[in-house]
Amino acid sequence: MKTIELIVPCYNESDVLEIFYREVSSVMQKIENYSYSFIFVNDGSSDNTADIIKRLSEKDEKVKFISFSRNFGKEAAMLSGLSYSSADLVGILDADLQHSPSLIPEMIKAIEEGFDVAAAKRTDRVGEAGLKSSLSQKFYKVADKLSEVEIDDGAQDFRIMKRKVVNAIVSLSEHNRFTKGIFSWVGFKTKWFPHENRERAAGETKWSMKKLFRYAIDGILAFSNSPLRFPFYAGFLFSASGVILFLISLALKLICDLPMGLAYMGAIFFVGGVILISLGIIGEYLARIYAEAKDRPHYIIDETNIKK
Ligand code: UDP
Ligand code: MG
Repeated sequence: MKTIELIVPCYNESDVLEIFYREVSSVMQKIENYSYSFIFVNDGSSDNTADIIKRLSEKDEKVKFISFSRNFGKEAAMLSGLSYSSADLVGILDADLQHSPSLIPEMIKAIEEGFDVAAAKRTDRVGEAGLKSSLSQKFYKVADKLSEVEIDDGAQDFRIMKRKVVNAIVSLSEHNRFTKGIFSWVGFKTKWFPHENRERAAGETKWSMKKLFRYAIDGILAFSNSPLRFPFYAGFLFSASGVILFLISLALKLICDLPMGLAYMGAIFFVGGVILISLGIIGEYLARIYAEAKDRPHYIIDETNIKK
């Protein structure tokens, strides 16, 4: 009998957890040759998510859980689940049932057929607010262009992976974790499943505009060095135009005896702007180097029933 574990990041999901547990359990019970279990990661919820998970774990030994001491974010929740997992196959899915559990049997079949990863790819963005959805589409386009790995707009966290893939992901110790980039970076043979995003079964989205914005910046900087190259090109351009401006102004001075003040001012503005932009970008990277150097743990566990 092979084993499969499903990691479920949960942040204030008390409205939906029991529906999730029932629906996914009924799908999993029908899968032959695999014994399943859940790893619910309570990401510092302020509602009674933790109590519900604990109650489930008391009446069902298939329910394992990890409970954080505060909200560390979905990336940290997924990482803790992956590093505490031990099964042959490991899946990740959202607690809100937007990821259709009915896809799991097909995903497992794909892995039996020789794929290392079976992952869902979004075909639409149903059930998401308009502005957020169009902003995130733009973000993925920019991130994909700038970064060294392929970052697909539709790729979801909803996936099932072989143990070797999980081990590879856990072995990356970086702190600004952008899991979508990491999934793509580790490689492996992946089968993509078209997947229509369902409406949230209950509760509401946990991503505020602010969280999404930070996520976008992290995503771009974590997998790309091109922002670092920008000030070089901009600086080159601006300095060159500064020199040209100066020469024009000098010529005007020599030919028509016009004062040169404007040329100096333009040049100073340009150079000042370039320096500021460069400093800003270097600062962003420095902040990240600082975070890596501190080497803090990604999360703090308050309580768990998993023995590592
Ligand atoms: N989530 C989490 N920590 C957070 C935010 C979200 O563990 O800080 C979980 C949340 O409980 C859900 C999943 O991540 O299971 C996806 O979140 P949500 O459904 O709010 O995002 P959306 O589907 O709107 O993108
Ligand atoms: Mg959701």
